[in-house]
Amino acid sequence: MKMSNTQQRRVILEELRKLDTHPTADELYDLVRQRLPQISLGTVYRNLELLSATSQILKLQLTGTQKRFDGNTALHYHRRCPCCGRVSDLKGEEMAEVERVLNELLRKTGCRSYTLELCGVCPACRKQQSSSRENPENINNPKSHQENKNDGIERQ
Ligand SMILES: [Zn+2]
Ligand SMILES: [Zn+2]
Repeated sequence: MKMSNTQQRRVILEELRKLDTHPTADELYDLVRQRLPQISLGTVYRNLELLSATSQILKLQLTGTQKRFDGNTALHYHRRCPCCGRVSDLKGEEMAEVERVLNELLRKTGCRSYTLELCGVCPACRKQQSSSRENPENINNPKSHQENKNDGIERQ
């Protein structure tokens, strides 16, 4: 049974929207393949590009990382964790604060847009670090957390 492009695209979009982990194309391919075993990585790439070009999803290009995709197109900001590589959404208070500061900045400078990339240890890593060692100085040493690296797609 051959699926049409439109059907394939719908499945890709559905799978992406289930996640808040901002997967790479490869990570999403692994998930989509469980529903569409025939699909190729190239098809997933192509559809992700198309979906982002038509603003149905967001394409995140963060420094030094693979492209990631986000099914949530509402205005929000991201934090990239240097320890585990997870990209998470700022929420609640954090989001409100960042927005307030940015709006103020735009008003003061007369600028109209910006790109924002926040980099910082995520709550999960922070918790692990504080429970596994006494010395908070080690928080800046990503090497010691290599073993947690490949779980970026898991929910917490
Ligand atoms: Zn982390
Ligand atoms: Zn997001």
